[in-house]
Amino acid sequence: MVLLVDDQAMVGEAVRRELEPEHDIDFHYCAKPDEAVAVAERTRPTVILQDLVMPGIDGLTLVRRYRANPATRDIPIIVLSTKEDPLMKSAAFAAGANDYLVKLPDTIELVARIRYHSRSYLNLQQRDEAYRALRQSQQQLLETNLELQRLTNSDGLTGLSNRRYFDEYLGAEWKRANREQSQLALLMIDVDSFKAYNDTYGHVAGDEVLRRVAAVIRENCARPADLPARFGGEEFAMILPSTTPGGARLLAEKVRRAIESLQVPHSGSLVGQHVTVSIGGTAIVPGADLPFSRIVEIADAGLYQAKRNGRNQVVMTS
Ligand code: GH3
Ligand code: MG
Ligand code: MG
Repeated sequence: MVLLVDDQAMVGEAVRRELEPEHDIDFHYCAKPDEAVAVAERTRPTVILQDLVMPGIDGLTLVRRYRANPATRDIPIIVLSTKEDPLMKSAAFAAGANDYLVKLPDTIELVARIRYHSRSYLNLQQRDEAYRALRQSQQQLLETNLELQRLTNSDGLTGLSNRRYFDEYLGAEWKRANREQSQLALLMIDVDSFKAYNDTYGHVAGDEVLRRVAAVIRENCARPADLPARFGGEEFAMILPSTTPGGARLLAEKVRRAIESLQVPHSGSLVGQHVTVSIGGTAIVPGADLPFSRIVEIADAGLYQAKRNGRNQVVMTS
């Protein structure tokens, strides 16, 4: 697709005749310089043939305008000059022209140059398009991977971290706390008499309770490093890096109270008339050779004690 911009209709007609036998070249002609950029925007040529001397407007000014317009910026421009003039030539290239021909060029040369510039322009566009598509698919891949990672690490029912991620995170925090000799706290939270809840209200209602308990646990993980997780079944956990025993106990008590005040009816509970939880917690500085499962055992001992003491309570161990 060629666009010729030249004020002389005679030139327009001559070039049209030259290109007529080339059936794959689509020829457009614009005689009005002040409409040239708009016509180029509309017709989207793959080459512009631009006359240099026109009334009212300098051809080089038009070349600069094509270059400044995002829609025509990369279109190859062949300037048509009346003479072979080195100064004119260098001014044309400086303005952004790609080629320089003296009017009227012979047909073989004109067609060859049009084809050459068209092809390189189309190749450039194809390459840009391919890069765009590549960038887009990379972005999609990134998003899919993130989503996949989220799904691999989270529990389907509650949206909290699952056991797999809990182990991974606790392992890493255990090592860090050992390195920094800082306190690492863990709360183990178990719903009281939950088997009886399922037996009384059904599993669907039971699932809903787990979701509500999970929401309370999530809300109480205020620091970025805190991790709420579903440990398994009706048992939850909170990993609290750099937290003292006193701080962990306060938080455990807050969670226990918040779940109690949900006032979810539970007629089969051993403890009262509502859903409650028992919490075992600990905050320790890891010993060098101990595995991270050690902190789970210590918190679990507290949970066991809380159940033994009558449930709906917090017991801290160390
Ligand atoms: P305790 O007060 O000693 O903790 O008694 P409990 O009944 O809560 O403890 P137990 O371990 O005997 O029962 C746990 C129950 O939790 C049994 C199981 O059916 C139920 N449960 C585990 N996972 C799910 C779940 O995803 N959904 C539902 N609805 N129930 C679950
Ligand atoms: Mg239970
Ligand atoms: Mg349990």
